[in-house]
Order: sequence, then C-alpha cells, then structure tokens
Amino acid sequence: MFIGHFGVGLGAKSIDKRISLGTLFFASQFIDLLWPILLLLGLESVKIEASNTTVTPLNFISYPISHSMFAVIIWGILFAVVYYLIKKNLRGSILLGVLVFSHWLLDFLTHRPDLQLFPWSDYKVGLGLWNSFTGTVIVEGLIFFAGVFIFYKVGKLQSKSKKIWFWSLVIFLAAIYVMNLFGPPPPSEEPIAYVGLTQWLLVAWAYWIDRSDKVLPMSSASSKA
Ligand SMILES: [Zn+2]
Repeated sequence: MFIGHFGVGLGAKSIDKRISLGTLFFASQFIDLLWPILLLLGLESVKIEASNTTVTPLNFISYPISHSMFAVIIWGILFAVVYYLIKKNLRGSILLGVLVFSHWLLDFLTHRPDLQLFPWSDYKVGLGLWNSFTGTVIVEGLIFFAGVFIFYKVGKLQSKSKKIWFWSLVIFLAAIYVMNLFGPPPPSEEPIAYVGLTQWLLVAWAYWIDRSDKVLPMSSASSKA
C-alpha cells in the first residue's frame, strides 16, 4: 500500500487538529520511512520478482525490524512516547501511536503472506489484496480520497499558497501511484532504497502545507529592526 497510508494520515487531522500534517504523515508512513534506511544498512532485504503479486514486482524477503507486527507495536509506542515528551499532548500521542500501527494493518490487508508477526518467528501473514488489481485500486483510492476530503474540510488551509501546495501534493501522490501501478518494475534492487528515501520529502512537504501562520506584527518587527 502506498497512498492509502497518506490517506489515513490526512484523515487523522480530524481527530486532533493540533498535530501538523507533517507529523501525521511521519507516523502513518513511519515504517516505510525506516525501511529504505534498513535496506541500505543491509539489515533487511527485497528482491525484484516480476508478478510477485499482480500489483507489486517486489518480493519482500525479510523486513522484521520495520515490518513485523511486534516491531511495529514497539515503534508505535516509541513514537507516542517521544511525541508526548515533546508536546505533552496525551490524546495526540495515542493517535500517533495508533497511526504508526495502522500502517501495519493496511500492509496486512494488501501484502501476500510476507509479514512476520514476530521478528524471531518465521510465521508470516498477509491477506493479499495486491493479487487483485481492481480491488487494490478501489480500496486504496477510496482511503486516499476520503483522507483528502476530510483534511480539506478540517485542515483550514486559509492562504492561497497553502491550498496550492496542498493540491499539488495530492496530484503528485496520485501521479506516483499511477506510475507505480502501470510503470515498469525497477531495473535493480539498489534504486528501491534511494527512491524510498525521497519519501522524507513528502513529510517535509506536509509540514510546509500545515505550517502555522504566526507572523510578527509590523510594529514589533520594525521596533526590533
Ligand atoms: Zn509498509
């Protein structure tokens, strides 16, 4: 799953509006942000295998640190604790912990049985929605567009600039998704990690969209000059 995770992040804005969209994306996509780093470190591995499932040409050989259920629960708790220590927002920190785990649930729905429950056990699960092209596009598309709709309703993007940044992100994510669905598989394994790392830019982009507008009043700005 790709844009579905962003859809969940967008929709979560309705539960706690104090949390920036950047932080919501950071949480809902956390384990996929971690994954390319672990690939580059050689701690996890992936192979290209045309038609591993109908939707993805990737065979996720091993990713216990980023994607085993147990590890994701731990990542969710850690994420929540760190956020709580920084912001002292209990409700928000619980929401973010749940968002981290939501990623695993959506991956459980889409992946073939390649997700370990525990890093130390080889028992793997996955409902395999990726075996159905139409099913994947419908489910993921619905989650994404519901998220876009909810965020647009509750996110209060007042300035024209924020709206432009927001809609360009939506179009950008949708375009990447379409390219993933219809484009050729990656030429080799290595670029997968580097392309994966660029997702951090999406988090930065979301922080930029949802930045606060506190501007110094003219008088205090000029008196300080
Ligand atoms: Zn994932």
